[in-house]
Amino acid sequence: MRYISTRGGAEPVDFVTACLTGLAPDGGLYVPESWPQIAPPRADEAYVETAARVLSAFAGDSIPLGDLQAMCARAYASFAHHSVAPLTELGKGVWMMELHHGPTLAFKDVAMQIIAQIYDYALERSGKRLSIICATSGDTGGAAAAAFAGARYSDLYILHPHERISPVQRRFMTMTGLANVHNLALEGDFDDCQAIVKSLFADKDFVAEVGLSGVNSINWARIVAQAVYFATVQAKLAGKARFIVPSGNMGDALAGYVAGKCGLLPEGFEGHCAVNENDALARILNTGEMKRHAAVETPSPAMDISVPSNFERVLFEASGRDAGFVRQTYEAYAQTGDVALPEAVVAEFAALGFSATRVSNADTMAEMQRVFDETGWLICPHTAVGTYEARRLARGDVATIVLATAHAAKFPETVKEATGADAPLPARCGDMEAAREVFERLPADLGTVRRYVQEHSGAGR
Ligand SMILES: *Cc1c(COP(=O)(O)O)cnc(C)c1O
Repeated sequence: MRYISTRGGAEPVDFVTACLTGLAPDGGLYVPESWPQIAPPRADEAYVETAARVLSAFAGDSIPLGDLQAMCARAYASFAHHSVAPLTELGKGVWMMELHHGPTLAFKDVAMQIIAQIYDYALERSGKRLSIICATSGDTGGAAAAAFAGARYSDLYILHPHERISPVQRRFMTMTGLANVHNLALEGDFDDCQAIVKSLFADKDFVAEVGLSGVNSINWARIVAQAVYFATVQAKLAGKARFIVPSGNMGDALAGYVAGKCGLLPEGFEGHCAVNENDALARILNTGEMKRHAAVETPSPAMDISVPSNFERVLFEASGRDAGFVRQTYEAYAQTGDVALPEAVVAEFAALGFSATRVSNADTMAEMQRVFDETGWLICPHTAVGTYEARRLARGDVATIVLATAHAAKFPETVKEATGADAPLPARCGDMEAAREVFERLPADLGTVRRYVQEHSGAGR
């Protein structure tokens, strides 16, 4: 199993290299050279078994199946629900796939827990140590902290904008109590954090010196791990399923497409990206307009994305895997911030199974209230973007599955504002307010962060 770059200018690599590297050296994203065909899960197959089989098909010779089974068992032991992604019926023919039973109450745990296992496994064999860095405006940092806390061969650096993320989200990252998790609260906004991470990766000497690596939403192992829960739906519900995916960087929606390509969805993939007022993804998929916009504030901050990073992989597929076209498109976009994609490519997005619409802030808040009134359930604002679209798009001939991407308790202020109700943390989270938080407050300055990582990195040890 080999992985090639969407921009065609990098040597093919194996699964482990693709996962540990993140971006390909030519700036593209890794995709499998061809799509493995995988048998859909049986109704009685455990989630862990399905996950190991799917990962094994993508890992090829890099990791034996037995080792993947052990890693998946460890990764999903921390989930509060044995089926990892249970379905609950929201209304007639409309289901929620609950992806928030992991340690930090958001779907990012599903992938991050297994990635941490893969990193430890691969690094133990190579004798290397890595410095993993990520910028977060919310859920990614917590999921990474929970997964990598105590990892034997990685140091984790999480950059978050000081006092600009919710206290619950901050606590998930800052209270692990483990020495290999470093939280940097930067005196700036999320874009400043992201710009620093980008500059650090562009510095090839620094990357080599500290063994810099990333676990952001373009990491291929994350996509594969997420394809697993799409596949499990088929074993639970007969007939075709249409997925409504609250989307930001499009990792989750892409994972559904991957499941379809590998034969895991025998009835085919249909995925509707529900986006918030930061609607770049809906514009691209509907009109082909790739245009840079400033992000606006919404009740669903994990979806406040102005350039959906995984779209590059969708563009690669929609263009018939034309790496030259993808490279030119992204070069033009980097220069002008404004590219119009050809009509034939836009038509292909729909042919691949993708569609998208935007949900306003007001509709999102009203939807949280409506679900609470009708069912007594509190849902998170990201999930609400999805359920709003599910009601509008539900059809008799398919099951409509909304991905519930986070637990309401992760966004208590927004939930209270929308519904008037309190969303308490589940008991398994313990008393988070009493836990000791550890973070370093630093200026949002490239040199300062660079020095901090150098001083704390175990790569040279
Ligand atoms: C990350 C996130 C999303 C967006 O997922 P993508 O894979 O980036 O499209 C949606 N909801 C929540 C709660 C998230 O944390």
